[in-house]
Amino acid sequence: MKLRALPLLAPHEATLERCVYCPKLSRASCPVSNVEASETLSPWGKMSIAYFAARGDVPSDAEHLETAWACSGCYGCRERCEHKNEVATVLFDVRAEAFALGVAPEAVTRIARDSRSRDVEYERALSELDPNPTANAHTAVVLGCSYARHHPDVARSILRLATRLLGTGFRLVQSCCGLPSYHAGDHATFVANAQRTAAQCEGVERIVVIDPGCAVAMSQVYPRLGVRSAPVVPFIDVVYRELDKIPARVLEGQRLRWTDPCQLGRGLGRYDEPRSVLARLLGAPPEGFLREREHAGCSGAGALLPVARPEASRQIADELIAEHERRGAGTLVTGCAESLRRFRSRGVAAIDLFELVAKACETEPRASG
Ligand code: SF4
Ligand code: SF4
Repeated sequence: MKLRALPLLAPHEATLERCVYCPKLSRASCPVSNVEASETLSPWGKMSIAYFAARGDVPSDAEHLETAWACSGCYGCRERCEHKNEVATVLFDVRAEAFALGVAPEAVTRIARDSRSRDVEYERALSELDPNPTANAHTAVVLGCSYARHHPDVARSILRLATRLLGTGFRLVQSCCGLPSYHAGDHATFVANAQRTAAQCEGVERIVVIDPGCAVAMSQVYPRLGVRSAPVVPFIDVVYRELDKIPARVLEGQRLRWTDPCQLGRGLGRYDEPRSVLARLLGAPPEGFLREREHAGCSGAGALLPVARPEASRQIADELIAEHERRGAGTLVTGCAESLRRFRSRGVAAIDLFELVAKACETEPRASG
C-alpha cells in the first residue's frame, strides 16, 4: 500500500492519482482557489498535497493538511471532471486524518468540541417551534439545526408547510444529523450523532429531510460510514409532488432569482423541481444566473468554509451577489439554511424557497390551477 501514512486515503488511491496526473481540467470550477487566486488550493493542488502526504513524501502536519479545509464541498470540480472524481469526499477524509493526528485548524477543532452544546441548543430551538409532532407516525422529519438555530421564523413556516403537505402526523427528529462534526473531521462524534438520529427514526417508513445538506449526509455519508437508516426523501420532492396544492401565479410579476444550492443541485440532483415550484408561484420561470444547474456558482457557506476561511467564504458569496445585482437584483431564492444565512449576512435580500411556498399557501389556502 503506497498511502500508508494516511490510511483513510488508501481506498481513494485511484481518485488521487487521477488528479495528481491531470492537467488541472477542473481548475476554473473551484470557488475557493478562484477567490484566493491560488494554484495550491485548486482541486488538483489540494488532491496533490493529500496524495504526497499519504505517501509520506511531505509531512502530515498542520501546514499541509489545512488545505483540506479550503473546500466548500460544492462538487463543482466533480461536474467538470471527465472522471467525476469525488474530490470533496477525499478532502473530507483528509480532514478526518488531520483531526485524528491533532493537526486540524483551531477554528474547526472548536466546532468539534462544541458538538454537545450545539445539540442542546438544537433541542431547545425545536421545543420552541412547537410543531405538534405525532409520536407514532410513519414519517420522521429532520429539520436541520441551521434552520432551527439561525432562522426560527423560517423553520416555523416550513414545519407548517410540512404539516399541510404530508397530510399525516410526523415525528420531528430531535437530534442533529452530525454534519458539522463530519466537516470538522471528527468522524467519531459524527457517527455517534448519526446513530442517535437513525435510532430516533426507527420504525418509520421514510425520513423527510428539509435541509439538503442534512439529506446528503443521511443518504450518502451515513451508508459510507456504516450507519443504516430509513429511506431519505428530500423535502423538495414532497413539495414538487404536491405542486397542484400550491396556489398558482400568486407571486406573478415579482423579481425572484433562483440560485441552485450546491447540496440540493449537485449533491442531490434536484434542479428541475425547485424551478417548477417557483414557476408555479410566479406563472413564469424564475430569473437565474449565467452558470446554472451542474455548473452553478456556490454561496461559500458549505463544509465549514465560513469558519476555516471566512474571507474566502465572504468573497465567494459576494461574487454571486454581484452577478445578481448586475442582472437587475430582486430577491435571491435559495433552498439551503446555510446559504440563506451567508447571503443575508452580506446584506442582500434573500428568502428560502419553502418559506415562500408556506406563505403563499397561507395567503391562498385553496388549491388553484
Ligand atoms: S477533479 Fe478531475 S479534472 Fe479536476 S484535477 Fe482531478 S482529475 Fe483533473
Ligand atoms: S468541491 Fe468545490 S470547493 Fe471543494 S475542491 Fe471541488 S470545486 Fe473546490
